[in-house]
Amino acid sequence: MNSIILIKYGELTTKGDNRKEFINLLYNNIKDKLKNYDVNIIKEHSRMYIEHHKENQKEIIDVLKTTFGIHAYAVVYKVKTDNDEICEEILKQLKKENFKTFKVETKRRDKTLPTTSMDFNKIVASHILKNCNDIYVDVHNPEVYIKIELNKDYTYFYFNEYKGLGGYPVAVAGKGLLMLSGGIDSPVAGYLATKRGVKIDAIYFEAIPHTSLDAREKVITLAKKLSKYSGDMKLHIVPITKLQEEIYQKIDSTYLITILRRMMYRISEEIARKNKNLVLINGESIGQVASQTLTSMNAINEVVKIPVIRPVACFDKLEIIDIAKQIDTYDTSILPYEDCCTIFVPKHPVINPKIDRCIEYEKLIDYEGLIKEIVQNTNTITIKNEDEFSDLL
Ligand code: ATP
Ligand code: MG
Repeated sequence: MNSIILIKYGELTTKGDNRKEFINLLYNNIKDKLKNYDVNIIKEHSRMYIEHHKENQKEIIDVLKTTFGIHAYAVVYKVKTDNDEICEEILKQLKKENFKTFKVETKRRDKTLPTTSMDFNKIVASHILKNCNDIYVDVHNPEVYIKIELNKDYTYFYFNEYKGLGGYPVAVAGKGLLMLSGGIDSPVAGYLATKRGVKIDAIYFEAIPHTSLDAREKVITLAKKLSKYSGDMKLHIVPITKLQEEIYQKIDSTYLITILRRMMYRISEEIARKNKNLVLINGESIGQVASQTLTSMNAINEVVKIPVIRPVACFDKLEIIDIAKQIDTYDTSILPYEDCCTIFVPKHPVINPKIDRCIEYEKLIDYEGLIKEIVQNTNTITIKNEDEFSDLL
């Protein structure tokens, strides 16, 4: 294998005792994502190196771009720790770059080496200046950084590093259940929870025949796009038609959505508990619609004990859209298929629902029996991350 990528952990380094666990998890996540490539991954206390074949480099970098827990990455060169050899090789690689100004930054990782980092900076810089015309040192704002890591026997150098996604390695925080609709907000919510290390499964409520199979396909596509970041996930497809029809027949129209959402929360909690998901995650955003006022959130949240995480609660819609575009869910989300929350929408949904009234209305339906039946009839599929990459192999 002739090429190496360096990975820096960043935020992980602040994690004290958990550090080892974090690094192991990041290592396993990367190893799993790269299982179809011939690579050798070396993990160290503050860095990881991926030795690979150059022809796979672009694909491997694409995988790293969707991996949480990576602060930065760079393509590095490895040479023997020998001053002349290092200078020559740096010069050779540097000649392929187009720049006017540079700065050398050396890290002497083996303190028994005789030359200090400062002195080594000078040795390399003067070698470059002697052998190239029209280029200058700029210590404040260089176009190219030449970063050198001196180890006892071998040395790494690289020119520019790229920002990774940051966050924590997926699964470090346990599992959560994402309420995934076909909208813009919930995929973004899932992505943001994943960024904090939450491994996600997803739950989707459908009301066939009022909602279509196209709407389901859209949610499956969104789940696939998320699995690029979160890895394989379960998608629970929940048939809510019967319960929804009961609600529409028996309950005052202003309370339809509030009650429907209370039911969705109850079912989500039950499925989460069964599957060891520790929290629910959804795309609610304060004040976005009637069911997302603070009073509505109280009336809806009241039916479950499980914590509910709302990663986009405080984001403006435009901020959410920006992230949706960045993670490539936006174009799918705006496909015009109906959602069970958007069919039979009342003209005047209640903005400040009363919990007492919710409880009174719910006495009109045998929701416990219906929920039991719905959970039994839930269809769980596994969404594989691999499908997304198959075209790259
Ligand atoms: P939009 O981007 O259009 O607002 P949304 O997905 O946020 O879409 P809302 O009606 O605002 O839709 O619903 C709020 C949240 O409730 C969603 O983000 C999602 O987490 C959850 N939700 C809504 N409908 C469903 C559904 N059919 N299945 C699963 N979760 C749903
Ligand atoms: Mg929304």
